[in-house]
Amino acid sequence: MRVPDEITNDLPFLTEFRRDLHAHPELGFEEIRTSDLVAKLLEEAGLKVHRGLGKTGVVGTLQIGNGTRSIGLRADMDALAMPELAERPYKSRETGKMHACGHDGHTAMLLGAARHLASTRNFSGTVHFIFQPAEEGRGGAKRMVEDGLFQLFPCDAVYGLHNMPGLDPDEIAVVAGPQLASSDSWRLTFRGVGTHGAKPHLGRDPVTAAGTFLASLQSIVGRVVDPLQPAVVSACSVRAGDPKALNVIPDTVEIGGTARAYTPHVRDQLEEEIGRLARGTAEMYGIKVDYAFERRIPPVVNDAEASDRALSAARAVFGERTRTQFPPSTAGDDFAFFGLEAPGCYVWLGNGPAVDGALHHNTAYDFNDAAIGPGVAFWTTLVEQELSASADS
Ligand SMILES: [Zn+2]
Ligand SMILES: [Zn+2]
Repeated sequence: MRVPDEITNDLPFLTEFRRDLHAHPELGFEEIRTSDLVAKLLEEAGLKVHRGLGKTGVVGTLQIGNGTRSIGLRADMDALAMPELAERPYKSRETGKMHACGHDGHTAMLLGAARHLASTRNFSGTVHFIFQPAEEGRGGAKRMVEDGLFQLFPCDAVYGLHNMPGLDPDEIAVVAGPQLASSDSWRLTFRGVGTHGAKPHLGRDPVTAAGTFLASLQSIVGRVVDPLQPAVVSACSVRAGDPKALNVIPDTVEIGGTARAYTPHVRDQLEEEIGRLARGTAEMYGIKVDYAFERRIPPVVNDAEASDRALSAARAVFGERTRTQFPPSTAGDDFAFFGLEAPGCYVWLGNGPAVDGALHHNTAYDFNDAAIGPGVAFWTTLVEQELSASADS
């Protein structure tokens, strides 16, 4: 592990900053305090700062020398709407809000990289430090893109990083290809004709239709999707009838769930096939169905060349502790929207063992401060390699 002394010297500041963010978590598009702190510190470090992109997003730009290449580095800043139940000195002071995904650490590491690069200036080109709001399902990345992120700050490549429990803080995983799944929502309503529970023949029962639909749902992944392509379809919500009216067959059943895939083709298949199954089931039972598939986040797929560059930086810092094999996650990350605009790579930085079994989105999760130095070193090395001052002269 090679962490430059200048970065090590900044760790007390960055650790305190990280813990301060942890104690003051803010939800998506509400990162007022966080983004204000980030913007002020970037300005103090000498960066050009653009506030309010994607509502509460901040972009800091550092342009050094006459290199023409331009890259974007992204950190997400938002917390989750859940209580923090573990005791720690910097426990959340906001009821029902918590940094349970380590975005406090992401923000601190990217700030650390900006401070370091602004002081060492050992590259030639442009770096855009993208502090994104609302990663946790509220659409912050898309909003930044719609607000002109890549017109205002053109990027030849864009990089993202997420902490990963189970890997040690001196480990990093850089893998080309799919990293995170698409994350889409689907909803349907079976519309029958409600009737007396003792006289089903006088109505059209949507509850039995729903049972048939749910029992067949996994046949999409099992029988339609290529067995070598990962996919998930889950029904996560079913609403019908009233437990206090057990002699009433209701008019409608509402079902909703999620769909995950790693390729556009499988994503299309899931949308199509859930709808086909819903319509076929409705037809079979002589009822109607409304179906909607909402495309939320595309898959995160690492570009081969961007991954090569990230891997080279990782090896320079982490040496043999760099992993080139790591399983993709069925979670999603809206970094995917940045990856659609510029060739991208998303890497996994170790967060140490899961303390008391607490993984991402657990009420006891915490970012591991031991990862700050390695994370800052990775970001700065990536910039110094990709925007190499010597290659430019
Ligand atoms: Zn999360
Ligand atoms: Zn996260």
